[in-house]
Amino acid sequence: MPAPGAGTSEIVARYDRAMQSSRVATPGDLDRPIRTALPVLARGAAGLARLGITTPREALWYLPFRYDDFSELRTLRDLVPDEKQSARVTIDAVRVEPGFKKRPQRVIAQLSDEHGGSAEAIWFGRRFVERRLAPGDEVIVSGKVSQRGWRSQFTSPEFSPVGRDSVHTARVVPVYPLAAGVTQKRLRELLARILEATLTLLEDPLTDMERGDLLPLAEALQTAHFPETEAETKPALDRLAFDELLALQLGLAQARRARDELKAPAIRVTDADLAEIVGALPFTLTGDQAAAVQSIAEDLASERPMRRLLQGDVGSGKTAVAAVALASAVRAGWQGALMAPTEILARQHHAGLAPLLDGLGVRSEFLSGSLTAKRKREIHDAIAGGMAEVVIGTHAVISEAVEFPRLGLAIVDEQHRFGVGQRAALQAKGAGGEPHTLALTATPIPRTLALTVYGDLSISTIREMPPGRQPIRTEIRDRRAMPRIEEFLAAEAAAGRQSFVVAPLVVESDALEAASAEAEAERLQAALPAVRVALVHGQQRADARDATMTAFAAGESDVLVATTVIEVGIDVPNASVMLIEDAERFGLAQLHQLRGRVGRGPHRSFCILLSDSTDPLALERLEVVRGSLDGFHIAEEDLRLRGAGNLLGTRQSGLPPLKVASLFDPRHLALAQRARDLADALVSDGALRPELARMQAEFAPVEEEGDAA
Ligand code: ADP
Ligand code: MG
Repeated sequence: MPAPGAGTSEIVARYDRAMQSSRVATPGDLDRPIRTALPVLARGAAGLARLGITTPREALWYLPFRYDDFSELRTLRDLVPDEKQSARVTIDAVRVEPGFKKRPQRVIAQLSDEHGGSAEAIWFGRRFVERRLAPGDEVIVSGKVSQRGWRSQFTSPEFSPVGRDSVHTARVVPVYPLAAGVTQKRLRELLARILEATLTLLEDPLTDMERGDLLPLAEALQTAHFPETEAETKPALDRLAFDELLALQLGLAQARRARDELKAPAIRVTDADLAEIVGALPFTLTGDQAAAVQSIAEDLASERPMRRLLQGDVGSGKTAVAAVALASAVRAGWQGALMAPTEILARQHHAGLAPLLDGLGVRSEFLSGSLTAKRKREIHDAIAGGMAEVVIGTHAVISEAVEFPRLGLAIVDEQHRFGVGQRAALQAKGAGGEPHTLALTATPIPRTLALTVYGDLSISTIREMPPGRQPIRTEIRDRRAMPRIEEFLAAEAAAGRQSFVVAPLVVESDALEAASAEAEAERLQAALPAVRVALVHGQQRADARDATMTAFAAGESDVLVATTVIEVGIDVPNASVMLIEDAERFGLAQLHQLRGRVGRGPHRSFCILLSDSTDPLALERLEVVRGSLDGFHIAEEDLRLRGAGNLLGTRQSGLPPLKVASLFDPRHLALAQRARDLADALVSDGALRPELARMQAEFAPVEEEGDAA
């Protein structure tokens, strides 16, 4: 296993000097702050902290999302435009061109090589480059090449002196997600140093038997960061994916075991009661809804706590099923609760459920942190006194002040948006046991996958839509169509309808993604002065974001430019257009989910997938979404098309936040099954070995506060 060699920068030199006299690190250092564990890297610690890396172990697991292959050296004559390449060159001259008006200052180097070729390299506004390059230097340059007139030009290439190994050039180079204030180059150097100093301290949490044909952990990490060839990354990432999946499965296996010891109230609803409740709805249940209601009634009647997932596309009628379940629990003498991840979603649920519950004679209350203290107290009293039979709200529902004397059924909407702790808190509100729980999700999950990931849930699926839905027309367009699309948005606005515009997904960073949405909002506003453009993105405060969305829902703006923060839930029946830019970057399920934001009212609705991609696979994927309105069909096609394991668009809501493992990769799906078997065996042996317990804690989903106040 090759150790990454010395690079060129200041910090590496400083590190090398310091290492010669440094103290010997111990395994405990892996989990100490970087400042203490590796004092020589203390100056990099602040930058790393911005990426959420505080200890060497976290650094080891901060993985690239992509690799650039610069391993093959080209001669300058053989450079190909528009590709990333490396070449070994001599610097003939370096000059600095001053900035002028809006043009930034530039550094330009003339390059030649021993095969008689020549080329240029250019850096924008980076004077320090000039100080590190002098005529006569022999360096390796790596970067993207473009054709400028008759000569080739490297744009802002990385470079390092010939003869010194480098983590930046002439090799397969890792590309990491970044945050403001940390450069790719510096991060790479810091990670290389940390690997070098700590990898030998890392023990493999798996025995050789458990590991089987997977790589040892240290080797997998080294290769995942600094592979010799791109092909090596596959087995390395497989091992890392296995650890992540095992941590997940250990949690699920423990939950299964713990649940066998818990009891829930047996909520018996007679067939006559159920028929009466269903009969009081303002419509007839579809077959799928009726089947879900039946399964829920059977689960409720048992003392084994229900853990059921109800999945169905947006608008498929999950809320109606939830209403019947809640009314059944109340009819049998129990209370019910429904918790949604944001204020706006909770309000929408209340607006949808309250009329149904009223019609069924059930008293419901809305509870969120935004209510006045007085109002909250009144509701707390109503819950404690049993007058509130159903409570619908944000995670205010699980606040300590709320006491349910008889909570029998807890419903969680989009449960993946809640932390484990929040879900556990809802379960702990049960009256002398667990309440039965029902999770609602609009993100369809193929069955094979659901069984692997949510092994301890029963699943009900609504495929069939209620009668009388307006189909949404979906089209694929490229950027040349933008002027006509803008006219269309303006025409819809003039007709009193509204549009969503989803800005390009930026995997590298949330800040860049927010910036891209901001730029798009400005561009559209300038192009369409008569249209009221609003903007939401993940870098805004949750309350500001909610306010903008509420205002949009109330018709106070015409076009809402957004990042994927609008993915879940928001219901605006007046919205008739969903425009998704650079659509090929999104997962298919995500595109379908976004499309579900329109077509919810009486208007003809449209979804425009904008893409300039020429990749046949990307276009085939978009074609799947264009050609089908069935979320399950799309999810299954997605799974099939992703077989190749492509890295783009792997974000997938509704699934656990896995960093390495991709459940769309059949290899990883097989690993998940293997992890599940191993987890069951390990958990049934009793207490986990400490290294496995640590592994589980390390990968536990981050305990995020819900979005709502
Ligand atoms: P979901 O929660 O799955 O997004 P909803 O339960 O909110 O869907 O249902 C969407 C709309 O369809 C609501 O207006 C609801 O009243 C209506 N609806 C639900 N079930 C039926 C049905 N069986 N027949 C007719 N309309 C229905
Ligand atoms: Mg709904």
